[in-house]
Formats: sequence, C-alpha cells, structure tokens
Amino acid sequence: LQEEEARSRQLPATTTDGHTVEIAANVNRADQAVKALEAGAEGVGLMRTEFLFLERDTVPDEEDQYQAYRAMVEALHGLPLVVRTLDIGGDKKVPHLDLPVEENPFLGVRGARLALRRDDLLVPQLRALYRAAKHGPIQIMFPMISTVEEVLTLRARMETVRAELDAPAVPVGIMIEVPSAALLADRLAAHVDFFSIGTNDLTQYTLAVDRQHPELAGMAESLHPSVLRLVERTVAGARQHGRWVGVCGGLAGEPLGAALLVGLGVDELSMSTSDISTVKALLRRHSLAELQDLARRALDVDTADEVRALGAALRAVDA
Ligand code: PEP
Ligand code: MG
Repeated sequence: LQEEEARSRQLPATTTDGHTVEIAANVNRADQAVKALEAGAEGVGLMRTEFLFLERDTVPDEEDQYQAYRAMVEALHGLPLVVRTLDIGGDKKVPHLDLPVEENPFLGVRGARLALRRDDLLVPQLRALYRAAKHGPIQIMFPMISTVEEVLTLRARMETVRAELDAPAVPVGIMIEVPSAALLADRLAAHVDFFSIGTNDLTQYTLAVDRQHPELAGMAESLHPSVLRLVERTVAGARQHGRWVGVCGGLAGEPLGAALLVGLGVDELSMSTSDISTVKALLRRHSLAELQDLARRALDVDTADEVRALGAALRAVDA
C-alpha cells in the first residue's frame, strides 16, 4: 500500500479530461527540495531567499548565496527552479540590515522597492544567481512589483550584471501580489517571461487588511471574489503575451483554492510540501471543464462564504 501511495504521488496532476497542471513546492533549502520531490513536487516554484538573511546575524555575501543557490539547482537535477530575490520589509524584518523604521511598512520600502534602492543587496544576489545558473536552470523572480518602471529598471540592472559575468540569459518573472500589478498584467506581461501570483499579499492589499492584524486577519480571505477576479485578470493579461502564470501564495495549497485557480487558467501551483499529495489527488478527480464552471460561478457571487459553499461541488479526497 505504501508503494502504491508513493507511486500515485509521482503521477502528474492531470484532470480527467487530460489537462495537466504543474505542481511545485515552496522550499528554501536543498534538503527540503529533496523531500518535496519525494512528495511529488515537479520543481520549486518559490525559493524565498530571505531565509539566507534571517538565519544569521550578518549579511550573506555573494559567495554564501552562490553556494546556497547552486546546492538548490543541483538538488533539482534540471527540474524548474524559481528563485525570488530578497523580499524584506513589511512583516519580514532583518535587524542587521539597518533599514529605516517606517510607519506603514507594508506600504513601504519592501521587496523590489528595496532592491531598487540598495545595489549593495541586489548586485551580489544577481551575481550569485547568474553564477549558479551555469549549473542548471534558474528563473529569477522579483517580489512586490507595482509598476512597469520597476520591471524595466530591474531588467536593465540584470543585464549589466549578466554581461559582466558573460552568463546566459535566464527567464525573468515577477510576483503579482499588488492590485496595480494584477490590473496592469497585460502591460507587465510584455516585459517578463512569467508571473507568479502571491495570494497572501494580493489578498491583504486588495481587501486592505493587514495579514497579521490581531483583529482583522480573519477578513484576509484569499477566496474572496475580489481576489479571484484579480487572478482572472492576471491570467488574461499573461495569455495576451503567451506567458505562463503560477500561484505561490497559500491559496494554491488549499483544495478549493487550487481547484478554483486551475479553473481560472493558472498553469502552475506552488505550495508547501505537505499539501502536494492532497492537491494532486483532488485535481486528478475532476475535469478542467468542471473546474472552469466552478471558477465562473465563484466570480459571480458576493462573498467569500458563497465561494466556500461552492466547494461542496468538489469530490472530497479520502485521507
Ligand atoms: C504571497 O504574498 O502570497 C507570497 C507567496 O509571498 P510571501 O508570503 O513570502 O509574502
Ligand atoms: Mg508576498
């Protein structure tokens, strides 16, 4: 029975009508990636590089970072790897980076905004990534993008670093986690190779609810129809330019969330290792047509509760 389970974990997430969705893991270290592959992951859709800065009390230099990225690439043996550049700020604080205290850190110098102001952080990270990319496929992703200008500036900096190292070009993507980015997806898609939707932040910024607020966090519902409408819009924008769209926020690892995201046209779901087998099994029990119908209905209700009620149409997966 265990062998049977192990075999089924490795089966692709193909719907009953033959549509396959890529299933990836959110992991930060090579040893976790190995476990994710055993659990059925087909790659790493989100490597959060903050951990390199958080696990120690000094800033990791280019060499430290290169070793970490190279170890991850090698652990994956050619499977896809999306590495996200440093996403510090908001709830993610790094005392030794000596960042200014802000009154509204979630609306402050976070993610790509920090990268654009701190070449001393961006350049060593990009150099380490390009060097690691010589050992296997790496895709570079920027967090907290809210404008086209940010993308153009970051791409120019990338090109300078790449040329200095004489490294091959790598695919470049952005997180879609700010409503402006979702609304401008058709424009942004002209300038990048892929999107990955961060439903945690997209929910917080769409509903204007601090995702950690002691009283309001419950209102931060990623199943809210407003969030799903932004996902729909993001997919439509990406399609205009033939780009793929993933989701690496928490919604991708929830059964109903995954079902809706696939129904909305998302190509890849990246989640915690522990969610992989349930999501794969669920998707394998439904047709894409069913999931598209579910998604259409979820876009046409008033509340997150009504979206949740639609989940009754899904066939449960036995534990
Ligand atoms: C997100 O915002 O959904 C996301 C994946 O990024 P993080 O949770 O690291 O902010
Ligand atoms: Mg985020």
